[in-house]
Amino acid sequence: MMSLSVGSPAKGWQRRAKKLRPSADLRIKPSGRHAMYGHPALVLMLQRTASQMRREAPGATLLVGDLSTEFGGPLSGHHSHQSGRDADVGFFVVDSRNRPQELDHFVAFDASGKAKDGSGLRFDDCRNWLMIQMWLRDQRAVVKYVFVATVLRQRLLDSARRHPAFRKYVDSAATLLIQPRNSSAHDDHFHVRIACPSRHEGLCQEQGTVND
Ligand SMILES: [Zn+2]
Repeated sequence: MMSLSVGSPAKGWQRRAKKLRPSADLRIKPSGRHAMYGHPALVLMLQRTASQMRREAPGATLLVGDLSTEFGGPLSGHHSHQSGRDADVGFFVVDSRNRPQELDHFVAFDASGKAKDGSGLRFDDCRNWLMIQMWLRDQRAVVKYVFVATVLRQRLLDSARRHPAFRKYVDSAATLLIQPRNSSAHDDHFHVRIACPSRHEGLCQEQGTVND
């Protein structure tokens, strides 16, 4: 029996969802623990992202917030996250001496990459970009959008342009990264949404407007 993502992210539900579980390279945000279910395409992509990040940036741990509830439907604190295609993912951060830090909560950053909470943490341009690149290149899930604040989007694209190995992905990343129109600026996490999985014709709907 195949897993189903029905309706749209803002008005939908799911059946036979897969539960995302914590692992050595993937940490679940304590407040997200009741909404850890998604379409297998999304859950498996997050697991791949976590293990790839661990390989390419040793010590990196993916911090994941809400996905959807087991059967989907409205989830408090979100407009979408209803049909198993959305996940909130924490930013990679470094301290003032550029040492990677692991967090169990989301931290908001300003345009200069400084934490808004006065902790001295900084937005890790390089590791955050690496993750965006992994999502762009993922062959098995199609990432439709990555919601993030416009100032951080700009920061990521600018830093990638300066790096020869990253430059060729800048244009496709520019279409993927977007600040949603209907909600908070997403300055403390990425919200990643996959496209309707295959064989979902007529069941799964893409959202017309770019809303989270
Ligand atoms: Zn979200």
